[in-house]
Amino acid sequence: MNRIKSQKTVDRNEVVKFLADELKIAFIRDYCPNGLQVEGQSRISSIVSGVTASLALIEAAIESKADTILVHHGYFWRNENACITGPKQKRIKLLLSHDINLLAYHLPLDCHPVLGNNSQLAKVLGFTTTGRFGENDLGWLGMVTVPELVTVSDLAAWIGKKLGRPPLIIGKPEQKLDTIGWCSGAAQDLLPDAVQAGATVYLSGEISERTVHEAREYGITYLACGHHATERFGIQALGDCLRKKFGIHHEYIDIDNPV
Ligand SMILES: [Zn+2]
Repeated sequence: MNRIKSQKTVDRNEVVKFLADELKIAFIRDYCPNGLQVEGQSRISSIVSGVTASLALIEAAIESKADTILVHHGYFWRNENACITGPKQKRIKLLLSHDINLLAYHLPLDCHPVLGNNSQLAKVLGFTTTGRFGENDLGWLGMVTVPELVTVSDLAAWIGKKLGRPPLIIGKPEQKLDTIGWCSGAAQDLLPDAVQAGATVYLSGEISERTVHEAREYGITYLACGHHATERFGIQALGDCLRKKFGIHHEYIDIDNPV
């Protein structure tokens, strides 16, 4: 009857240590802390994962009776107001009052060669990896392996189908596909690095006004595929990895975000 009571439990510190080692958090320079951001109960039996530790995700996790939330976008970003007021107060109060752990992994999750956002995105979209580029090796380089995808237009339609959101194309839809670069999230400013690495098409999540001119002037095609849409897969793979390793419950909850 009670799923949580019959569930295996594991020491939280053991999970935190495993993730720190697996994601090599000590070796990646980031603009937020990676690891246990808010301390809840000392034993873990049920994890809810999601892209962002929003109020909606915390409420869904409470509804699911989770003791731990695992996310890609946590709290305490560099240069943000450090005070715990407004929405931040509501989120943290809810976590603390329910004794829920918040585990957050940002760039280390983008970078991981198997569980990471970019590796998982390549799996979903059928890309092979031939190299990496940019700081922290955040950018990925490869080829499209799906035979029926010949042009940028084919690829855009394919991405729309796979991610449930049509990308914005900056470039020529009839351009033939060759080496492509990709980086999930808000990596539009990695575009010059993608050009230098040899990509003729570069895709990321977000787009800025300047990206349009940069893409045109570099002569590269840019596909803005959605920040949330491109970052749903790493955290699911990480949660599943914990489920298999420790025998604990894991459920991914998607909080819709059109950006
Ligand atoms: Zn992101």
